Amino acid sequence: MKPLKELTRPNIGALKPYSSARDEYNGAAASVFLDANENPYNLPHNRYPDPMQRDLKKELAKIKKVSAEHIFLGNGSDEAIDLVYRAFCVPGSDNVVAIDPTYGMYKVCADVNDVEYRKVLLDDSYQFSADRLLAATDEHTKLIFLCSPNNPTGNDLLRGEIEKTLDRFDGLVILDEAYNDFSETPSFLAQLDKYPNLVVLQTFSKAWGCAAIRLGMAFASVEIIAILSKIKYPYNVNQLTQQQAINMLHRYYEIERWVSTLKEERTYLMKAFTKLSCVQQVFHSDANFFLTRVSDAGAIYHYLVDKGIIVRNRSSISLCGNCLRVTVGTRVENEQLLKALQVYGK
Ligand code: PMP
Repeated sequence: MKPLKELTRPNIGALKPYSSARDEYNGAAASVFLDANENPYNLPHNRYPDPMQRDLKKELAKIKKVSAEHIFLGNGSDEAIDLVYRAFCVPGSDNVVAIDPTYGMYKVCADVNDVEYRKVLLDDSYQFSADRLLAATDEHTKLIFLCSPNNPTGNDLLRGEIEKTLDRFDGLVILDEAYNDFSETPSFLAQLDKYPNLVVLQTFSKAWGCAAIRLGMAFASVEIIAILSKIKYPYNVNQLTQQQAINMLHRYYEIERWVSTLKEERTYLMKAFTKLSCVQQVFHSDANFFLTRVSDAGAIYHYLVDKGIIVRNRSSISLCGNCLRVTVGTRVENEQLLKALQVYGK
């Protein structure tokens, strides 16, 4: 890996971050707070939240088995995706490399930040080769984006190829594990010490059932986390979100139950899909959704909308011609979907 100083945008390296009232005094001893121009009424929502989310990170560190200084928290993992561009990619001259197809926000953030986005097509099994990905890089490539399990294809990427990418790339590898809780493959979180260029993204939006509170996690070296923390908005994770996330972390056993139920439902739903006459192919999934190739994705999508059932039409995405992406729901919801598709075209 290149020295982090060399990978960081010069203006970010030199940046003196904004120092908020709660950065300057964050002790617990005081009882009179006259430093942040808050309203003294309307407790507890009158007070700014902890800008570094210390209590939440302490709880999260226990569950994730990493120390708090390796954790960045943001307004969804989308915030972390945007911040890695802003921290490391010089607009107009740097580039990033990503697998294709994959999660759309990597490209949107590249476009917003005026950074060239280089796509490397997956193979017919939706897998990538480290060699082909690395061949697309040059001296201006700062980031490689990998997503495992991948969205919208649903499959885990080959671990050996991820490791090879981490070993050989001299920039940062952003490994998005938004759906890893649904996979049998272990997270790369335990590999943070081994790979100084690894940034793992996870989220409260999927297995944790908290998409509404907007909380994403990035795990990386202390030095990378310090850079992301330096450029984030001062109070990027609000107090209600911090509190609700702590509540959820105390109920982790419930999340394990949801995950195992959803995996059972995934098996049930995918098996039933293979028997539908409008379905041509059901792709392997390690996530809480799966991709399926159907006879006419547009027509089936609109047919389901008319019945109040919404799936995602992914037909326009590379390698996903005539494909729908189906999220696994409750047994009742899954039955509704199957019932509708069983009478499609009849
Ligand atoms: N990564 C992937 C692969 C996703 O599919 C999504 C959401 N669809 C996200 C990140 C964004 O997650 P968040 O809600 O934490 O912003």
